Amino acid sequence: MNVLDFCGVGDIRTYLNEPFYIDGNICCSNGHILAWRHQNEIGTDDAPSEMKQRVREMMNIDHSKFKPVSFDLPVIEMRKCRVCEGTGKCTRSICEECDGDGEVELCNDYNCYCDECKSCDGDGQIISIGGDLCEECNGSGEVQKDKHIRLKLCDVIIQAKYAKLIHGDGLECFKHDEMLIFKKDGVTGIIVGCRE
Ligand SMILES: [Zn+2]
Ligand SMILES: [Zn+2]
Repeated sequence: MNVLDFCGVGDIRTYLNEPFYIDGNICCSNGHILAWRHQNEIGTDDAPSEMKQRVREMMNIDHSKFKPVSFDLPVIEMRKCRVCEGTGKCTRSICEECDGDGEVELCNDYNCYCDECKSCDGDGQIISIGGDLCEECNGSGEVQKDKHIRLKLCDVIIQAKYAKLIHGDGLECFKHDEMLIFKKDGVTGIIVGCRE
């Protein structure tokens, strides 16, 4: 398990797209999950101040509660990402014709007409292949056919894509406040559960 897999990808909260350091730990989060690993070399604490306190509180977990857990991954069927056409890279820019509204307004002496912008098909943004990592597929070029596959671990419902990250030998977990606390390969982390 690689702690870096828990970083956000293309998140507008850019501090989530990179690991940060707190109290000698390298931490990664995408907003729904948080994972950390102790580093032997002391890094400089550079956690964004808006999350430092909360992350410290979350990292303060009861290690005596861990129990070995094993589970079968559900079959996750993949399909080509339509946004980046499977390349894993695409760049979004605001549509110039509608200025990001997705609609254009045309007025003459009699009336005003509002219509879907034909340049961007009403999306308000133009996607061109290449450049940045595709947010839709995290740069893999593939997305889950059914985005809503979930499974229950220790009575916490989590998304299949997160189960995939922690799956494997040596996994230990427990439930705490509707969150799944996990530990494997020296990485400890928290996955916020989904509502039923
Ligand atoms: Zn994509
Ligand atoms: Zn447009």
